[in-house]
Amino acid sequence: MEELLDPGLGQVRVFLLHDDNKPRKLKHNLGHPRLLTFGGAHSNLIRAVAEAGARHGIETIGVIRGEEHLPLNPTLARAAACGMTLTYLDRASYRLKHTEEVRARLRARWGDVVILPEGGSNAAAVRGCAELPGEIEEDYDVICCPVGTGGTLAGISAGLPEGRRALGFAVLKGAGFLEGEVARLQREAYGRTWPNWTINLDYHFGGYARSTPALERFAAEHGVERIYVAKMLYGVLDLARRGAFAPGTRVVAVVTGQPSTPVDV
Ligand SMILES: *Cc1c(COP(=O)(O)O)cnc(C)c1O
Repeated sequence: MEELLDPGLGQVRVFLLHDDNKPRKLKHNLGHPRLLTFGGAHSNLIRAVAEAGARHGIETIGVIRGEEHLPLNPTLARAAACGMTLTYLDRASYRLKHTEEVRARLRARWGDVVILPEGGSNAAAVRGCAELPGEIEEDYDVICCPVGTGGTLAGISAGLPEGRRALGFAVLKGAGFLEGEVARLQREAYGRTWPNWTINLDYHFGGYARSTPALERFAAEHGVERIYVAKMLYGVLDLARRGAFAPGTRVVAVVTGQPSTPVDV
């Protein structure tokens, strides 16, 4: 892990851990010959599922929000090159994608298929993300990550050793519902919840995929992905400067994606 050196941090130490969360989420979701998932036209998950499908010989179907636009953008072109079947869902149906009605329609069309929810957060994804803390050899007190659908935080919390805590930063506005989501995902995966995590709701910068000039400058300065990682890291540094962490606290900030990767759930 690389330490982030910033004079404003005082006695708080911040370490960056580069770790893509989508492969972790998929690891335990690859046991079925056909996998279907959802995403916007720039979805990291769509691309990760397509790549995993190609690697593991699994048929993949990507249900994309909205209309088809040709030529395909780089994310969808990459997905198609990996062999993913792309299909499009109008925005009204897309909003209802997790209802029984739309799922039944998808099953009628695509047959026997595992449906991975948007964002890829299900019980198997949580178990995959829970493997991360055990791989950290250095000492730390708090582990921070961005929160989109909550699977990453749910897993990290479940995998934490005694005495450590997890702090998630919501990238959506009005994301109070995420606390219920993280608890639900932990119960789905393990039949219990953990008391070692919280979600900070103050660093959404206007909402999902929204930004401000200050956030843009910050993302450029630190060379981090804008939709998720910049918001989390901005929050970590701002809280540290405001004295929210006790002196001597060692914080691990999980850098869940790279700036060059497309940025969408
Ligand atoms: C998908 C994604 C997330 C969100 O993770 P959740 O488990 O949905 O909360 C965070 N960071 C990056 C870079 C992502 O692509």
